[in-house]
Amino acid sequence: MKALVYHGPGQISLDERPVPELSFATDAIVRMRWSTICGTDLHIVKGDVPTCEPGRVLGHEGVGVVEKVGPSVTAFAPGDKVLISCITACGKCEACRRGMYSHCADGGWILGNRIDGTQAEYVRIPHADTSLYPVPADASEESLVMLSDVLPTGFECGVLNGKVSPGSTVAIIGAGPIGLASLLTARFYSPSSLIVIDPDPHRLEVARRLGATRCVPSDREDPVQAVMLETGYLGADRVIEAVGIPSTFELCQSVVAIGGTIANVGVHGAPAPLHLEKLWDRNLTITTRLVDTVSTPMLLKTVHAGTLDPQVLISHRFALAETLDAYDVFTRAAQTHAIKLLIDCRSDAAQ
Ligand code: ZN
Ligand code: ZN
Repeated sequence: MKALVYHGPGQISLDERPVPELSFATDAIVRMRWSTICGTDLHIVKGDVPTCEPGRVLGHEGVGVVEKVGPSVTAFAPGDKVLISCITACGKCEACRRGMYSHCADGGWILGNRIDGTQAEYVRIPHADTSLYPVPADASEESLVMLSDVLPTGFECGVLNGKVSPGSTVAIIGAGPIGLASLLTARFYSPSSLIVIDPDPHRLEVARRLGATRCVPSDREDPVQAVMLETGYLGADRVIEAVGIPSTFELCQSVVAIGGTIANVGVHGAPAPLHLEKLWDRNLTITTRLVDTVSTPMLLKTVHAGTLDPQVLISHRFALAETLDAYDVFTRAAQTHAIKLLIDCRSDAAQ
């Protein structure tokens, strides 16, 4: 089969690899239909993720069809269409029983990291019963790829942890795929304002289309001043950090209202300052989280009901044979206007 393989920092190639086999009784083999590239994959390619070793097939998102199941798998059978969660969960360990699948003792984020992932024609999914979700019969399969990671991450780490509520003022820092996913799912709760801050004019235009009430081009306008004007000089009740660098975490602290929440979603690679000398008396909550994908069944229902349209995040399409081009386009998002790319994993997709 064809698979996108990481060979060390800066080195990826589309290789011929053996089709994966069942290793444990709880595994399933899934024939991939759709996959995508995540910002985290770019971190891996840069060499920032030491748990991902050379030789690894990348990708932790996708939709496919069950090809084979181990003897202990009871919830799925060959032929079933499935959504692959970016988080593998055994369903039995202490973390899983607490709903923190991301910290599963025998799972968590392992796909395309510690084990081979979904940018391939086939993938082995451990703990299939609790790591796959059935695709509803009438669903748009391709758009459901956005439910593997980006939408549950924006929703759980940003909106739920941030306690977005009706009438609240929300500031989202960063209009990449995760910031936009937070924006889409924050709208479930009818906040009174949704302010999006980003230097990229194209991404702000997308944010406006998706319901942002105020877009702040942070390279041309002072974002603190903009949030203060927008909120009657109170600051934003709910601030969602969707970038992951020290300056954006500091910006969150400058725009949050008293009694507010800062929900960090960004993946931080460097220490970020926390100004307790200014914040110690402001009744704030600061949250961190890795997505658990506990909200996936609920998000599937909102897609089915038409409340949430994941399709709006898809900007480009590629065949699996063109995955290297897809990485190039995704890496140069400022020029290419890439948001989320769809990769068609069928072997005949290029024909
Ligand atoms: Zn991801
Ligand atoms: Zn577990």
